[in-house]
Amino acid sequence: MAELARAVLSISGRTLITGIFGDPVEHSLSPAMHNAAYAALGVDRVYVPFHVRPEQLSSAVRAIPALGILGVNVTVPHKEHVARLMPRLSAEARLLGAVNCIVNRASGLFGDNTDARGLELALRELRVALGTGAKRDVLVIGAGGGAAAAILASKRLGARRIVIANRTRSRALGLARRFAKFKIEVRGLDALTERALLGGSGLIINATSAGLGSGRFPALDYRATPADSMFYDLLYSRTPGGFLKPAIDLGRPAADGALMLLNQGVLAFKLFNRIAPPADIMRRALFEKLGRPLS
Ligand code: NDP
Repeated sequence: MAELARAVLSISGRTLITGIFGDPVEHSLSPAMHNAAYAALGVDRVYVPFHVRPEQLSSAVRAIPALGILGVNVTVPHKEHVARLMPRLSAEARLLGAVNCIVNRASGLFGDNTDARGLELALRELRVALGTGAKRDVLVIGAGGGAAAAILASKRLGARRIVIANRTRSRALGLARRFAKFKIEVRGLDALTERALLGGSGLIINATSAGLGSGRFPALDYRATPADSMFYDLLYSRTPGGFLKPAIDLGRPAADGALMLLNQGVLAFKLFNRIAPPADIMRRALFEKLGRPLS
């Protein structure tokens, strides 16, 4: 509390602002990570969560240069809409069709996306290697922006075959078209009980919001997966959710989206501030907020 009071009292006319746009936004762990980094570096900057409703999104984006904000992260449900509002996009944001970072430079605003790179770094840290052996197939569950990041990260890790399984087929087909050069296969959620498909999957990624809170995760035949296949959930929480729990109970390698969140945040920090991010400080702040031991 004393630390918070000190931080608030130190805000002045020279303090530079970064932040996040979301609806809702109060659950976001990004302020804890970024503000811990600013405090550790002793720089006069703050990271503020802004609750921006969809009907106010374009006004909020226009306000970024007007208010001299250095940059903002973008979270649900705005990532795809912001991509259409940006005068310039990085190649990565264009490919993903979504923006999670708006960067304010002297030359104007541009949109970037650090989700795929953040996930790739997380999976590398977890020693997920798809480049060797027979189990180079990846099953991505979901077809939104998170699934797009999962496809790109998987390809960069050496995936041979990528299958997306989604509740709404038309959305999955749209995502497969976006990545046409990767020849993605599209399936319904019944694929999650197909033994032949699961048996060759070295990596199974949940990129849905199914299983949030008390919601149930769709039926998945965990026993059909190879003993060393990795289960990665983009969701993160204090305790494992409906997708990860059965995998952990079976002894399969499993991890949630905390490391992806950390890495996309570290990359965003660098984009906004053009200062080397203190990644260890951000990691500690994140795990402290999650109420989990450091990993
Ligand atoms: P979207 O809203 O774009 O997509 C949600 C996906 O979940 C859709 O494929 C949707 O299927 C599916 N879905 C939702 N409810 C159910 C259900 N009950 N049963 C089956 N499928 C369901 O979200 P995003 O892609 O942006 O994000 C997905 C998740 O990943 C979110 O929980 C988000 O918080 C997380 N995420 C985490 C990140 C991190 O850093 N760790 C980064 C990005 C995302 P349908 O198309 O049929 O509606």
